[in-house]
Amino acid sequence: MSDYRLVIIGGGLSGLAAGIRYARFGRKVLILESHVIPGGLNSYYRRQGILFETGLHAMTNYAQPDDRRAPLNRLFRQLKLSRKRFLTHEQIVSEILFPNGVNLLFSNDFNLLKDEISAKFPRIIDRFLRLVQAVRDYDPFIPCEWISARERIKDILGPPPAGGDPAEDEFFVNMLLWPLMMYGNSQEHDMDFSQFVIMFRSIFLEGFFRPEGTIKDFLDMLMEHYLSLGGEIRFKSEVESIYSRGDSVHGVRLRSGEEITCDDIISTIGYPGTLRLLGPAVVEDGPRYEGRISFMELICLVSMEARAHLKKSDRTIIFYNLDDQFKFCRPDDPINIHSGVICFPDNFQGLQGTARFQGKDVFQVRFTHPANYDHWRNVSPDEYKEMKIVWGEKSGQETAKIIGNYLENVVYQDSFTPITIEKFTAKSKGAVYGSPVKIKDGRTSFKNLFIAGTDQGFLGIVGSMLSGISMVNQHVLEKI
Ligand SMILES: Cc1cc2nc3c(=O)[nH]c(=O)nc-3n(C[C@H](O)[C@H](O)[C@H](O)COP(=O)(O)OP(=O)(O)OC[C@H]3O[C@@H](n4cnc5c(N)ncnc54)[C@H](O)[C@@H]3O)c2cc1C
Repeated sequence: MSDYRLVIIGGGLSGLAAGIRYARFGRKVLILESHVIPGGLNSYYRRQGILFETGLHAMTNYAQPDDRRAPLNRLFRQLKLSRKRFLTHEQIVSEILFPNGVNLLFSNDFNLLKDEISAKFPRIIDRFLRLVQAVRDYDPFIPCEWISARERIKDILGPPPAGGDPAEDEFFVNMLLWPLMMYGNSQEHDMDFSQFVIMFRSIFLEGFFRPEGTIKDFLDMLMEHYLSLGGEIRFKSEVESIYSRGDSVHGVRLRSGEEITCDDIISTIGYPGTLRLLGPAVVEDGPRYEGRISFMELICLVSMEARAHLKKSDRTIIFYNLDDQFKFCRPDDPINIHSGVICFPDNFQGLQGTARFQGKDVFQVRFTHPANYDHWRNVSPDEYKEMKIVWGEKSGQETAKIIGNYLENVVYQDSFTPITIEKFTAKSKGAVYGSPVKIKDGRTSFKNLFIAGTDQGFLGIVGSMLSGISMVNQHVLEKI
């Protein structure tokens, strides 16, 4: 008899959700996590007494608690958690900012985006509404071949009316794509239409919110629930290999040398990472699944007195792309300072927005830029530290042009790069959104090994949790 019915590799959000879903049915389940705390990409750390979140800008897929069909509420039901007791704060307003000051505001009230498009792209609004209907009608969860979002959107919008300019259409489409790509596209330049639909709904139609408290509180809630259902988790337990025989897997070996047997495995560590655990015979398939999209993130605490002088400081998130030519790709430089995300993580309705740091009232701003893994990998530790400073300063000069000069008032700054992401999550080459080729049905060439999380294709906090749940539902619960 096996030690466990199910072993889950990775204690990130998809692993925790999969674990809770399975533990609800009273079967022995073990999560193995190499790090010392849960959360994976969305975790936390402390510096000088302050808790910093590694990933959380905002959660997507906002829904009122009584909307039964909404993905967020389905997620809570499947995990048997109370959505009503899960307190949330909706975003204030976010912005897409492109060259020459062209911008679009949006919030959780979709009418704001429609009004903005009517005012700023009057020749496109009617065709945009056709696109919205197509997004609502499409089922992105039926596994199908990759479809170019750019081509499909072009087809749906159709040609511009007389007097319209195809270049204006392209500019507009790039504006729509930018936040969806920055928050969930593992491919360069284009994205899968199914992924576009998922991201469009979760960001534009449903919207951003933050949970009450920090990501630590959210993770604590999930952990407590999982353990109360009898689930087990082991930290500092890196899986070194997966044992296979014929077309099935039957256990894992930890770095410590310990062996654990099981009936099924769900891996949440990405497809290339999972292949590596299976050994050299399988790993040859790997390179095609290596992602290239990674980021550098700067986290700044700024003293409160700067706030009054800032522009756009009421925004929740600013998605900006000030390159002359639209580029969503690995940049030539270590980071692309001309494009990224500026997030004020306290700008949610009903949040206080201040913290104390070294006796001062401060607020937080986060800056995310596309980054090139190779630049950060191929340097000595001293050069790496120097690069973080140099590129941090360049980012500061550029972002100050957008929100005003906050630089003199920064009291604390931290940053992470593709190397940090790789080190703490084992995402190969720091590819935040994983493989460009998704394993949509979660199946592998082994009949009892399944992929959940980022490389199954659902991204973000809500998406990765839904992925964990649906892989359990589709592949392992049927055996109970
Ligand atoms: C900078 C940044 C900002 C983000 N901001 C947001 C946001 O604001 N909102 C949002 O919704 N999403 C955000 N995301 C995305 C979101 O964090 C991820 O989509 C989601 O957390 C992925 O969860 P996962 O479980 O699939 O993968 P992961 O979080 O990567 O979890 C995998 C886990 O597996 C562990 N592991 C790896 N290898 C092994 C091994 N061999 N043995 C044992 N354990 C192993 C890792 O330590 C990790 O804990 C952000 C991501 C980043 C990097």
